[in-house]
Amino acid sequence: MSLLNFQSKLPRVEPSIFSVMSGLAHQHNAINLSQGFPNFKSDPKLLELVTKAMQSGYNQYAPMAGAIDLREAIATKFTHLYKTTYNPEFEITVTAGATQAIYTIISAFIKPKDEVIIFTPAYDCYEPTVALNGGKTVSIQLEAPSYGVNWNDVKNKINSRTRMIIINTPHNPSGTVFSNQDMLQLQELVKGTNIIVLSDEVYEHIIFDDEQHQSACLFPILKEHSFIVASFGKTFHNTGWKLGYCCAPKELMVEFQKVHQFNVFCVNHPMQKAIADYINEPQHYENLPSFYQQKRDFFLELIKESRFKIIPSKGTYFQVLDFSDITQENDVVFAKRLTSEFKLASIPMSVFNENHTDYKVLRFCFAKTEKTLKKASEIINSI
Ligand code: PMP
Ligand code: GLN
Repeated sequence: MSLLNFQSKLPRVEPSIFSVMSGLAHQHNAINLSQGFPNFKSDPKLLELVTKAMQSGYNQYAPMAGAIDLREAIATKFTHLYKTTYNPEFEITVTAGATQAIYTIISAFIKPKDEVIIFTPAYDCYEPTVALNGGKTVSIQLEAPSYGVNWNDVKNKINSRTRMIIINTPHNPSGTVFSNQDMLQLQELVKGTNIIVLSDEVYEHIIFDDEQHQSACLFPILKEHSFIVASFGKTFHNTGWKLGYCCAPKELMVEFQKVHQFNVFCVNHPMQKAIADYINEPQHYENLPSFYQQKRDFFLELIKESRFKIIPSKGTYFQVLDFSDITQENDVVFAKRLTSEFKLASIPMSVFNENHTDYKVLRFCFAKTEKTLKKASEIINSI
């Protein structure tokens, strides 16, 4: 116990499930399909570009908003993929991963008593960040296995205190995606309001079965309300680089940068230079859906006879498996037992739900080598 008298600002927050399950995997020498990170190598070309940038002297602070050639490359990518424009001078900021972008957006706009609508199961950083800023999250629980949104429910939760709606498509942890209709309904709800949409699109390039990613920037009115958040760590298999960005209309970005400049000021320079060169070749992101779909299909083919129930993931590199035919244990208990007894780590989904509702589902990360997926599948088939 501390000798100091203080009140925790986040009394209910515990170490994240990602640290817990990765720690357990390590402790039990288990295959780690819990925390979402690839276990294969980065493209050597990208690593060479980082070395080149370091050797060329890009080792001091980058501009506050990010290296201009990276911002320009991001703007070009938006035009190429979504036929829309963001001005690289004023509407794009490079961040220390998506996490910092999310933290900074929420800190820039959420005041005490403001309400933020989130859809649960929700990525774990949204709620505590809102709480740190004195705001309140209003959860809309999406029901397994479809995790579809009833937009009437959303409409009913909007009131004069609603300041922000956070969406995430493709969705971590469920592996579902929003349809064009979902986005149109959202657009209708925010039209004419002061609601900001935080659109977490870190898995924009990891989408399967010819689904089109429904970026908020594709919907003109929605775009005016939205911050789009992206992660180069997720996209280019380098989660440890912690590099991402966000885009928004200029007036919103001005407020974002007021906080960003005191939050990190700027982020690592040589990797920004390298990624700028790398994404100027569109095949580096256009190949990603088929690359990951092949991994998903490989994994699902191997476990199709298992006792887990499978609905194939539509996006992200996560596959949800329903274990209700195997045991009625609580999912956290079962995930921990799988790790210690069967040497396979996953993420119990209830931790992301309102009131920790347990739908008897676990999340497995398939951003792994075929060798790892094969070993994991042998365990899954033996359960
Ligand atoms: N949002 C979602 C939905 C995520 O899954 C993650 C984890 N990659 C993040 C944000 C954070 O991304 P980053 O590692 O770039 O901070
Ligand atoms: N986004 C990763 C996941 O969902 C984890 C990131 C983290 O460890 N905070 O597994």
